[in-house]
Amino acid sequence: MSASPIYPTRDVDFARAWLDVDLGAVRHNAQRLRARAGVPLVAMVKANSYGVGAVAVCRALGVPFDDQAEEPDAPWGVGIASLDEAEQLRDSGCTGRVLCLQPLLANELPRALALAVRPALHRADEILAWGALGERETPAPYHLSIDTGMARAGVRWDSVAPLRDALMVHPPEGVFTHFHSADESLASRNVQERRFAEALAVLADVLPPECLRHSDNSGGIVSRGTAGSPGALARPGIALYAGLFADELGLAPVAHLRARIIDLRDVHAGETVSYGATWEAPGPRRIATIAAGYADGYRRHLSNAGVVLINGTRCPVVGRVTMDMVMVDVSAVPCALGDVATLLGRDGRDTLTVEMVAGLAGVSPYELLVGLTLRVPAVYHASLGSTNPSSP
Ligand SMILES: *Cc1c(COP(=O)(O)O)cnc(C)c1O
Repeated sequence: MSASPIYPTRDVDFARAWLDVDLGAVRHNAQRLRARAGVPLVAMVKANSYGVGAVAVCRALGVPFDDQAEEPDAPWGVGIASLDEAEQLRDSGCTGRVLCLQPLLANELPRALALAVRPALHRADEILAWGALGERETPAPYHLSIDTGMARAGVRWDSVAPLRDALMVHPPEGVFTHFHSADESLASRNVQERRFAEALAVLADVLPPECLRHSDNSGGIVSRGTAGSPGALARPGIALYAGLFADELGLAPVAHLRARIIDLRDVHAGETVSYGATWEAPGPRRIATIAAGYADGYRRHLSNAGVVLINGTRCPVVGRVTMDMVMVDVSAVPCALGDVATLLGRDGRDTLTVEMVAGLAGVSPYELLVGLTLRVPAVYHASLGSTNPSSP
């Protein structure tokens, strides 16, 4: 490969299957999102950065670590969903702002404080408890979570008045809401925005003027066109990893699932391939067995539907995807044992995008990404450029 892997998990020469993660692409995507949003980002790194590796992504984005100074274009902070995720970041030396967007239970607050996590709070008793946990002079920051229609987390937009007393005692650093379909329906986004504004109006005199408002996820950022995100921050996740909006925003692919050809055979007309004999050779065909299956995040729904890149050529998946292996028709392309197939991502000039493969698999791009490192190691690259994995 032209770019040498950083933090190599293992020697790729001997790997049967692995996920190439292009950290240069993550940086590029963050820059595109920052430019489009027009405000600093909370980079969402929950679920191990959607499967690609939270620590590596935070480092690549210039978030401060014990041994790494904060870069000028680093995100304002990173977003996570559980304290275990925060602990992983802190254990690795991450000293940046970490925002936990998911509601925490009251008994988790001391741990959140110990991990210097900014929790999302929305109950008066928790706001008071959180304030009492911290130092009197410099109370620990938190963000007020307002539900404007997602109906998942936060205080209802029309029920914020009872929080006024608690907010006056311990004012939040930020206040946010979350859109359910910003990129699909401007009307729904506008309804949610109106509700957010209503709630903020009720709290106007108790929220500090510097309180950081934020609402936009990736879809929200895209929904603004070139107008930029309102408020002080935006919280993209999926777009950082080019799982959605790759064309709209000019994003670069991050995750590249590779696996080697570990067997090759010729089948005759009428013979079948894989479990259930769901594929029958229409004529003489050459079949390659690839060392990745649904236990590696290559979804079973790609049976008789997926395509993989081998030496720059698209080859169809034939028969069912099995747990550890998948078979493809390579009649059209010369290949040999040990050659590398690209099941997702770029090989030479062709790219199988997350959106495309997720579409073929009948899952959301989010689900496809988070499943990719179930078993295979991630191999991190400072930049992959347009590397062809098959020709070192
Ligand atoms: C996951 C999440 C995001 C990021 O959403 P994407 O659609 O991946 O951009 C932003 N905010 C909150 C509260 C989230 O839970």
